[in-house]
Amino acid sequence: MIDLGAVRADTAGCHDLIFLDSAGSSLPPSPVLDEVLSHLRREAEIGGYRAAAERADSLEEGYSVFASLLGCEPHEVAFTDSATRSWLAAVDAMGLSPGDRVLVTEVEYHSNALGLLNLGIKIEPIPSDASGVVDVDALRDMLDSRVKLVSLVHVPTNGGLVNPVKPVVEAAHSVGALVLLDACQSIGQLPVDAAELGVDVITGTGRKWLRGPRGTGVLVIRDQSGLRPRLIDGKAAVWEFPDRFTLAPGARGFELWEYGVAERLGLIAAGKYALRLGMSSIASAVSSNAALTRESLASIAGVSVHDLGREQCGIVSFTKAGKSAEEVRDRLWDKGIATSVTYSTSTQYDMTRRGLTSLVRASPHYFVSPSDISAFASALTDV
Ligand SMILES: *Cc1c(COP(=O)(O)O)cnc(C)c1O
Repeated sequence: MIDLGAVRADTAGCHDLIFLDSAGSSLPPSPVLDEVLSHLRREAEIGGYRAAAERADSLEEGYSVFASLLGCEPHEVAFTDSATRSWLAAVDAMGLSPGDRVLVTEVEYHSNALGLLNLGIKIEPIPSDASGVVDVDALRDMLDSRVKLVSLVHVPTNGGLVNPVKPVVEAAHSVGALVLLDACQSIGQLPVDAAELGVDVITGTGRKWLRGPRGTGVLVIRDQSGLRPRLIDGKAAVWEFPDRFTLAPGARGFELWEYGVAERLGLIAAGKYALRLGMSSIASAVSSNAALTRESLASIAGVSVHDLGREQCGIVSFTKAGKSAEEVRDRLWDKGIATSVTYSTSTQYDMTRRGLTSLVRASPHYFVSPSDISAFASALTDV
């Protein structure tokens, strides 16, 4: 159980605002904010190198924190500056060529699709089933030995569905394809366990459900993937002068030397905060907030909830008849309620097929109270 009073006491912004945008960029809790600010101050006092050296143990501990959070080994964790950076580094390491087949779900995120198109890869969407999640039977029919990658979005940017993972992994591995799990919208709201799910790569971001700072990301490269980085620097490898080099072991080779140390420390604090609350407690609090939100919206005239899927998570997507999504978002903001708009450009297969151009997205985290949700519902009634 989440102690609502305690988590709200840690979350300055939630007292002035009804904050329903953790799928966009959440409110960091005070341990995250304190870590970032105090490190920046320390850098101003003694310089960035000395300041980082003082925190070497905490920075190293980050790998085991995220290994616990994501069900892998510490050496399988790399830190990056965004989910997309993680995704691009992992896919680059796959050395795909235009004859290779890559399958994606219909909720594939635009940046991932663009990365593939830029490699000259033809993207093949796996059909969804009637509920809207990836159709595993259809996937099995598409598989052959030319399929090198199945790119699986765990939770899409534009709605509440949760894609099944294990059956996708089983099918993909039967032809030797890798599975990359885009867990950008699931890390921090749902348990994500690499070993249990069997996935080869996981990508995620800090600023969304994990409540970390902006400009932070995580990449899990499991040993079983056999992937080696191709974009390396003097952190990722040692130059054995003059013409050889040795790669750093494990996922470390996917990191570059320079990064925002304050933000990294903040991300690690966010990981610890989530572990302390417990991912199953977080998931059940988020899921009951989202269920209450969907239920409240369902009874408002003119409001349609658009979430697909069998199991639904913390992203609630909706429209209001006669109002544009931007108008709804802006009118709610004027009343002290933060939501965001998700556009068809981010999830083209899914939105095109459903004839949607934009949706309002409300993503209530565990720090949102039931009275926040009823205030949101009555504000939306008045929009
Ligand atoms: C936000 C998002 C991303 C991209 O994350 P960045 O940290 O902005 O790179 C990728 N996939 C999904 C499903 C997302 O919602």
